Amino acid sequence: MGNLRHEAIRSIATSKHPLNKLDFRKIHAKDLFGVNVFNEEVQRQRLPKPIFKALQRTIKHGAPLDPLIADAVASAMKDWALEQGATHYTHLFQPLTGITAEKHDSFVAPTDTGGAIAEFSGKELIKGEPDASSFPSGGLRATFEARGYTAWDPTSPSYIAEHPNGSTLVIPTAFLSWTGEALDQKTPLLRSMEALSTQAMRILKLFGNNSAVKVFTTVGPEQEYFLIDKSFYYLRPDLIHCGRTLFGAKPPKGQELEDQYFGTIPERVLACMADAEAELFKLGVPVKTRHNEVAPSQYEIAPIFENSNLATDHQNLVMEVLRKTADEYGLVCLLHEKPFAGINGSGKHNNWSMATDNGENLLEPGNTPHDNAQFLVFCTAVIRAVAKYPELLRLTVASAHNDHRLGANEAPPAIISIFLGDMLADVFDQVEKGGAKSSRSGGHFETGVSTLPKLPKDAGDRNRTSPFAFTGNKFEFRAVGSSQNVAWPNTVLNTIVAESLDFIATELEKGVKSGKEFNAAIQELLPGIVKEGRKVLFNGDGYSEDWHKEAEKRGLPNLKSTTDVLPVAVRKDTLELFAKYKVFTEKELQSRFNILSEAYVKTVDIEAKTALLMAQQHILPAALKHQKAVAESIAAVKAAGVDPGAQLDLLKSVSSLISDLQKGIVALTKALEHHADGTPYDHAKAAKVKIIPLFAALRSAGDALESIVADEFWTLPTYREMLFLK
Ligand code: ADP
Ligand code: MG
Repeated sequence: MGNLRHEAIRSIATSKHPLNKLDFRKIHAKDLFGVNVFNEEVQRQRLPKPIFKALQRTIKHGAPLDPLIADAVASAMKDWALEQGATHYTHLFQPLTGITAEKHDSFVAPTDTGGAIAEFSGKELIKGEPDASSFPSGGLRATFEARGYTAWDPTSPSYIAEHPNGSTLVIPTAFLSWTGEALDQKTPLLRSMEALSTQAMRILKLFGNNSAVKVFTTVGPEQEYFLIDKSFYYLRPDLIHCGRTLFGAKPPKGQELEDQYFGTIPERVLACMADAEAELFKLGVPVKTRHNEVAPSQYEIAPIFENSNLATDHQNLVMEVLRKTADEYGLVCLLHEKPFAGINGSGKHNNWSMATDNGENLLEPGNTPHDNAQFLVFCTAVIRAVAKYPELLRLTVASAHNDHRLGANEAPPAIISIFLGDMLADVFDQVEKGGAKSSRSGGHFETGVSTLPKLPKDAGDRNRTSPFAFTGNKFEFRAVGSSQNVAWPNTVLNTIVAESLDFIATELEKGVKSGKEFNAAIQELLPGIVKEGRKVLFNGDGYSEDWHKEAEKRGLPNLKSTTDVLPVAVRKDTLELFAKYKVFTEKELQSRFNILSEAYVKTVDIEAKTALLMAQQHILPAALKHQKAVAESIAAVKAAGVDPGAQLDLLKSVSSLISDLQKGIVALTKALEHHADGTPYDHAKAAKVKIIPLFAALRSAGDALESIVADEFWTLPTYREMLFLK
């Protein structure tokens, strides 16, 4: 006997999940890589040489796409896809909510003579027109003029998505309105990459680099996530509808023993990870690292970096494959930024750099950064960008979800600052004073054990508390949330750095034109920029109270919640910046402002309704049963002639919590009945002020009840169970 919760525990204890679907003794991971991708190798084999070359020029050097090659590419793609068992093709795009969207079309077309053939033309490859009027456009389109087009992105290779009954050819695309406005995440990202490339190339030219044709931004996003048992998930309306728990008493053991971080990975989880990695390998996603994270049941997966566009498409695939694969192992992958209160949340560390098409990393300092002028210029550009636009960066990580994580104890605060590390901080101190003369060197570790190898020591330590940290040869933007599409933060990062590179290139060009020696022009320009940008440089503990005070003194913005930062999206300087680099039009930013506001309102609304449902249909009934049992016990004890003093105390405390819970239910119900007028942003502000504060009281009564109600009456899986039973 027992309730559904007990049944779930029993099924977890007894079910066996087949863990040996993959056997790497029989097939090597390297042989799986890219087998489902229409990649360069397949293109070379299957395309006529001139077509192959033209396509590669577009992919590698950003040459405009010659529409005449589309038919030949489509035909080769179709033949290849059919051989892999594809029945349909789809234009995959990234609308402004959700991760990706797809609509499948069959390759099969009937013939005049009653048969059927497989067809796929260049036109169908290049352009699609999904009836996509239901995607959020934030006012960019009215439903009566709902045309949206998908446009083939040849720089992200098409691939085969396998299903149990066959497969689909997936074509990555951009999604635009018929007036050319971006309705998606990819289009602005591609625009921002071009903007940055143009400006970076000006600087490389000044350095005499004539071999690079293009500069790419590169991204390596580390994904944190939770895996919990599916049987528990199905019993938690909050996880199903909100992705996070809205109730849940603190477990007796959480993460305080720190025995989870990098700990041994449970076998079922390991099998699931290996399977997900194999699937990702087939799709050409270069996943590299896996480990346990800090919280119980929390894990991380990280790929090798790629150019931002490909990395973004691949990151979306990582999330999708993790979800799908978890399901096959009886697990659920939680990508929410804060699934469990009081336990570490999940982020997506966005490692970012710039590289030429020849593969030169422009943020590689080398061993002597002080005399690496090119590095100093590019790094200074990043510092200037972050110092000038901290609120824009903060905007890109703003969501109702991430509000629970940022500034909590495990994630960087909402104050945007840069960690450079000791070595670079010292170099930039010198730059500011008029020229860097030396770089500290790391030397070697003394292990004190003669049989251990001598390890070279990095010249600076790590810092885990900074939202934007230099980590050796790249910057790591750590405030990004785990469920986010990384396109948006990278679009903004690319654009603000493009603006700084533009500024620096213009000044240097002026200097050189007026007859200054190039190095002298650099020496003259950088100190002022570093001086001005210094306010965002901070090497200390970003979690500490002192830093909050210090940041305030420095005048750094501390925009704590989403509603504080949303208006930055449509501020005059924002509109001007993005218009100048042709990344967003004013209309597109206005639409994003509306969509972000609407998403916030909807999230809060769904959470409020789910919290009410759980309080009324799960927590209250359990509490009433418990109350009744105590009341009956009083009668029984009295009848037996014993003083029911203890039971009376118990009855009082459970009754008082029930009354608190009921008060919370009434207050939240009432708040939900009230409808705010005005713009989506007005609604968001109303949700923040009127709804969100009511969650705490409701939750606190619910969690207190969870801790006293008899186990047999409690139906919601607890934190203790969800986080520790697998
Ligand atoms: P850590 O965060 O411990 O330094 P790594 O150095 O392995 O770990 O890097 C973490 C992530 O940063 C990986 O996804 C890696 O591919 C990515 N990365 C490394 N170099 C670059 C780069 N030049 N540009 C973008 N991402 C990078
Ligand atoms: Mg990292």
